[in-house]
Amino acid sequence: MAREPFKRNPMKRLRLTVKGIVQGVGFRPFVFKVASALNLKGWVLNDEEGVKIEIEGDEEKLEEFLRELLSNPPPRAEIEEVEKEELEPIGYSSFEIKESEESFERSVLVSPDMATCEDCLRELFDPQDRRYRYPFINCTNCGPRFTIIKDVPYDRDKTTMASFKMCPDCLSEYHNPLDRRFHAQPNACPKCGPKVFLLDREGRKMEVDDPIREAIKLLKEGKILAVKGLGGFHLACDPFKEEVVWELRRRKWREDKPFALMCKNLEVVKELCFLEEGAEKLLLSKERPIVILKGKPSSRIAPSVAPGQNTLGVMLPYTPLHHLLFEDGIRCLVMTSGNISDEPIAYKDQEALERLSKIADFFLTHNRPIWMRCDDSVMKVFKGKPLFFRRSRGYVPKPIFLKGAKRNVLALGAELKNTFCITRGSYAFLSHHIGDLENYETFRSFEEAIEHFKKLLRVEPELLIHDLHPDYLSTRYALEKDIPRLAIQHHFAHALSCMAEYGLEGPVLGIIMDGTGFGEDATIWGCEFLEVTTEGFLRLGHLKYIEMPGGEKAIREPWRMGAIYLEKAFEGKWTMDRYKELGWELLREGVKRGLNAPLCSSMGRLFDAVSSIIGLRDMVNYEGQAAIELEVLADPKAQGNYPFEMDGYVVDPLPMIRAIVRDLEAGINRSQVAMRFHRTISKMILQVAQRAREERGLQEVVLSGGCFQNLLLLELVTNLLEGNHFKVYTHHKVPPNDGGISLGQAYYGSRWRS
Ligand code: ZN
Ligand code: ZN
Ligand code: FE
Repeated sequence: MAREPFKRNPMKRLRLTVKGIVQGVGFRPFVFKVASALNLKGWVLNDEEGVKIEIEGDEEKLEEFLRELLSNPPPRAEIEEVEKEELEPIGYSSFEIKESEESFERSVLVSPDMATCEDCLRELFDPQDRRYRYPFINCTNCGPRFTIIKDVPYDRDKTTMASFKMCPDCLSEYHNPLDRRFHAQPNACPKCGPKVFLLDREGRKMEVDDPIREAIKLLKEGKILAVKGLGGFHLACDPFKEEVVWELRRRKWREDKPFALMCKNLEVVKELCFLEEGAEKLLLSKERPIVILKGKPSSRIAPSVAPGQNTLGVMLPYTPLHHLLFEDGIRCLVMTSGNISDEPIAYKDQEALERLSKIADFFLTHNRPIWMRCDDSVMKVFKGKPLFFRRSRGYVPKPIFLKGAKRNVLALGAELKNTFCITRGSYAFLSHHIGDLENYETFRSFEEAIEHFKKLLRVEPELLIHDLHPDYLSTRYALEKDIPRLAIQHHFAHALSCMAEYGLEGPVLGIIMDGTGFGEDATIWGCEFLEVTTEGFLRLGHLKYIEMPGGEKAIREPWRMGAIYLEKAFEGKWTMDRYKELGWELLREGVKRGLNAPLCSSMGRLFDAVSSIIGLRDMVNYEGQAAIELEVLADPKAQGNYPFEMDGYVVDPLPMIRAIVRDLEAGINRSQVAMRFHRTISKMILQVAQRAREERGLQEVVLSGGCFQNLLLLELVTNLLEGNHFKVYTHHKVPPNDGGISLGQAYYGSRWRS
């Protein structure tokens, strides 16, 4: 039937609930603007679920409103879903932004720290500006946040800026709604704000006119400086002088772990590294993470910066103090976290002096205290998108949207690379990088940070989720609290953390390639094929069990895994002379008698074994080192792969071990063997996935676990699975390693139906 030409469109009223990252990102003013432009009436409001909108008007206009809402939201917003309900029109006469309840306003989200913005930079280097060369310049769009906030609501007196009283000029900016420093809590200037000092290693203040220029001079002379940043101290030195970098390594006891670099600008990064697609955007983002890039052989960076690697971790300056350090000719600095070996990063002035005085020659510090320590974030780019290695400064405490959350929980994370996660409503708040919960210092900072997050979020968790491992400090933490708790298996949590990113409920096939995690049968799991839903998992299969000779010790000594794999592959009839010299004969007797030889199905240990067998690494200084070097060694152009056997969903790699030995004996070079090994693993995964699709109807695959930090493996697996029409999900919001575990635990716990 044809429509009557002049009939008015019917009036409609909609109630919308917009979920996702929609608070503290300018969403309500945006809704107000769009609604007003379309002459629609109603209101918008923030509440626990997200943004609520009631909107009334004619049908076409409402549709236009919805289109605009979904296609042009504010830049920092991330809409996850919009619930729509149609109601009887009631004749609103205007559109307004409603005030939320006070208790809710108090819990409005705390912002992460942000890199110095372009406007502030312009002033910083403008000799006419009153903040010319002032190292604490900031505004509403940049500067410290998370690291200086003691409590909410976010007001100056609740930050570490409380002791600095604003001068009249600063105060008038602060109160002027049209000024870009309106309500900028850390606002300051040379007259009223914090100051920098240069100290010698005994902590004595050095009488110099310009501490920053003096620091630059010292760096150029080859000195090592501790520099106070946003979330802690860095150790800085000249990355082009091998003797200086080597000396830093010696003093820091950092064995072989790579040092990060800070470059003056993008031009310098391009001189040192190959800039792949997507990297530039990340480097320049206000989060300013360390981005791991392929280094150029021509870069002249000292070999001790990143031993055994073909990559460099680089970042750009993110505080005014950093920018000032790159005046006077410095182009690049080592900027590694200020700690000894695996201890937490130093952030309190006195503590830093004590702990770092044996490493740093001088301290470039200041009197704005850091309240929460926060390490730099670290990432790589995978297929143009970010892949986290460590999610910390710049990203914390930005929430991640959790689908289907029913209760507020505290997820305690894993033992290594620990983060915890607190949920409030549909938001998951992952903590900054806490570190390895093996020493008392780190455990204390874990407890302190949990209390801090609870305070900032005004939330008391109803449920604790911890790892199945009975001896973890985080497990003990949970057992001591008088709060209901759930234990979940490590690799189940890995799968869930990836599912949480996409709101998947399963069933999906979880392919977890990992180091170690406590298994439900009390063995050590690590290469797991799981059928997963948000409610539980079925272990379809895994890498065939093998002993870890000497238990944990095998992690530091990959040759032990090499030896046991050869032992099994050749039924005890053949091993390498090298292993005999390392003491295999004796160890082997121990394994036979079952002495300290736990069973494992770990992919990390298989990587270790292969890198030892091909003669790359018999010992490592940190977990994963052998695997990283194997990835570096692999020649992507090499063809071919090795045989393996499958029994159901249990993969036996012994035929591959035999074939590798044959290749080596035939004089095939190690780069080729390393590549064939990577290809073989991806073929194993494909076969498992195909079987799971045939037998279990699983079409969607999630990839998680520390081994997927290996981009070569990740790419081979993703391409192979996608080429065979699987839907593949990989991590983009949290790391595939244990730093992402707490999100998976929280996803499970927050949906738990008791
Ligand atoms: Zn700014
Ligand atoms: Zn001032
Ligand atoms: Fe893990």
